[in-house]
Amino acid sequence: MSENKREFVCCMCGSKRVIAVIGGKYYCFKCGSKIVQDHVLRYIDLLKERGLIVTEE
Ligand SMILES: [Zn+2]
Repeated sequence: MSENKREFVCCMCGSKRVIAVIGGKYYCFKCGSKIVQDHVLRYIDLLKERGLIVTEE
């Protein structure tokens, strides 16, 4: 383990332009926004399941 070498890279694409930490993992803007979108969609599904939001389909 090398503590002095802390390089943050996106855990999905390996980009060094890390802008977000989600669930202890590092993400660049592109992958991070995708993850956030997935989280939001999952959250909306959860609300639907609980009958908290009703969607017309
Ligand atoms: Zn990335």
